[in-house]
Amino acid sequence: MPNILDRFFEDASSRIATQPVLSDQDLPRPDSPEHDGFDPTEIASDNDDLIPVEDRWSIEVGTRRLADREIPFPITSEDRDLLDGGIREVGFDVYAFYKSRRHVAARPYPGKWGIFYLEHGVSRVKELIESTYPGYGSSLRLAYEFLREHERFHFKFDIYALSVEAKIGRALYEPLKRAFRHHRIHQVEEALANRDAWEWAKRGRVGLGEFAYDFMKLQPGAYARFDERKFDLAGELAANLIDLNLSSTARREDQALWIGNVPDELLRRSLCPEYFVRPSSLTAWINPAWKLPEVRNVTEAQSFSSSLASKYASLKERWEDTKRKLIANPALPGLDFKRWDKSTGHWSVRINDNFRAHLRPIPKSGGTWEAEEFGPHKAMGHG
Ligand SMILES: [Zn+2]
Repeated sequence: MPNILDRFFEDASSRIATQPVLSDQDLPRPDSPEHDGFDPTEIASDNDDLIPVEDRWSIEVGTRRLADREIPFPITSEDRDLLDGGIREVGFDVYAFYKSRRHVAARPYPGKWGIFYLEHGVSRVKELIESTYPGYGSSLRLAYEFLREHERFHFKFDIYALSVEAKIGRALYEPLKRAFRHHRIHQVEEALANRDAWEWAKRGRVGLGEFAYDFMKLQPGAYARFDERKFDLAGELAANLIDLNLSSTARREDQALWIGNVPDELLRRSLCPEYFVRPSSLTAWINPAWKLPEVRNVTEAQSFSSSLASKYASLKERWEDTKRKLIANPALPGLDFKRWDKSTGHWSVRINDNFRAHLRPIPKSGGTWEAEEFGPHKAMGHG
């Protein structure tokens, strides 16, 4: 029997004109640089193992299910490098993604829609929570809920979009998705999805605000814009959707408060299916080119050492501490270690709230990096 969400989808879809929408060539282009990001339709997913999250009644059922699987599901250090690189290169959705009911027949997982969690991704977030807050309890449940908050925003935006499309009788969601197909990491929808996960993490009973902030700032493009003014982000997304105005200064303030606000009747847990995915191969999911490079040793260029000995002598101890942490675990979100300039091969690391260093791997050195520049956050071009 169709549920309330099925009926909404069917009724609303029937009100959207079927005449051809804009062709790919006629679509406007985002003003951001091209970056294909993570495209779930391209995963070699035919042999993946899917486990439904059958917690229609309470989150605890899902938690127990995850917890039960925790012991027989270790991730390797190779997996970690892929996961840690993937989050930096293409953002949150490489750990879990949302597939619209509109695309139920399409890849991946034809016949299924909803939220798909990469089991490795849930495990990795759990590990990072534990490294950031040693002794923190029930971190597997927190990792799962953290990912879920982001993906639920995609679900809510999908429903909101459909309600607008039904009202005006014209497709909006598909053209928007197609317009951004080579600019995925720049969709402002990702900023709002990350924002929901961040706001959830900041709640008193969760207490992961600092972790969430750092984890989101590691991510590329619009993913890292989550801390901009929410009203502006929502107004921008509404202008993208309704006017197909893709400029980052576009605004539909009249719709800003409605974006992602969906009637409770459509938000019942049982209505949007969820699955844990164990992929047949992690590299089919995460491109090996995204892997986080190894850091075995960090040396300093002459100019770097001299500025540390003179102008920035007070930061010497902080730098030594940063180096130690970088070698021990470069993936720690608090280090904010991420690619800085693709053309020069530089990466950037946080020394404290105001200072960063730029460094790059020495070719064929087996994990030795040289620190080259050092300075205040703003002067280093980090805004
Ligand atoms: Zn997302």
